[in-house]
Amino acid sequence: MERKSRILVVEDEEAQRWALRQYLTREGYDVIEAPDGESGLRLAREAQVDLAVVDVMLPGLDGFELVKQLRRDSSIPVLFLTARGEEWNRVAGLEIGADDYVVKPFSVPEVVARVRAHLRRAAERGGERASLREIAGGSEVRVGGVSLDLGSRRCLLEGRPVELTRREFDLLATLARRRGQALSRRQLLEEAWGTVHLSEKTVDVHVARLRRKLGDALRLTPLRGVGYRLEA
Ligand code: CA
Repeated sequence: MERKSRILVVEDEEAQRWALRQYLTREGYDVIEAPDGESGLRLAREAQVDLAVVDVMLPGLDGFELVKQLRRDSSIPVLFLTARGEEWNRVAGLEIGADDYVVKPFSVPEVVARVRAHLRRAAERGGERASLREIAGGSEVRVGGVSLDLGSRRCLLEGRPVELTRREFDLLATLARRRGQALSRRQLLEEAWGTVHLSEKTVDVHVARLRRKLGDALRLTPLRGVGYRLEA
């Protein structure tokens, strides 16, 4: 039998943790919980978690700091729970690497629906990586002087390792997978990061960072009014 997807709920309010656990368990997920940021981060790293639901306001290590630290070595989907009226939280949360957010007071079925959608996208991304491996005859994709190892998520420039953030890597992997094709910023938001909540400018910001790290080896052509094309 297939392993159940494991969801980590990091939330200090007991009643909300309880409600999420009830629903998610009923939907067939394996649910683990943490009441604070420190234990949440530890579980996210050690317990083979497939997705995390993280409250922004937590005692001690808050949700932002948790996700920032988690993103150094994990690319699991993260859904933020944020309070109404804290618009800056949502934008900042997405910028540091959350995939989505739900505003409190939330409807539990809505959270469950988002969880399902993000797990499906993550599975699709995994499937794409697998099919790309078949095409390339390995887990490596080369474009110009840049090579990406999709399995270990390593990037090499002329044979030397380059540190990329999760968003940078996923953006570059999407461009590489569709090299030679024009991709709009919206397509890149959806295909690389599985979100429509970020502004299209975020794509330009990450492209600029990739250019700084990879220089001329990144043969990326800006397409005025459209987006970008990575030259084959
Ligand atoms: Ca809280």
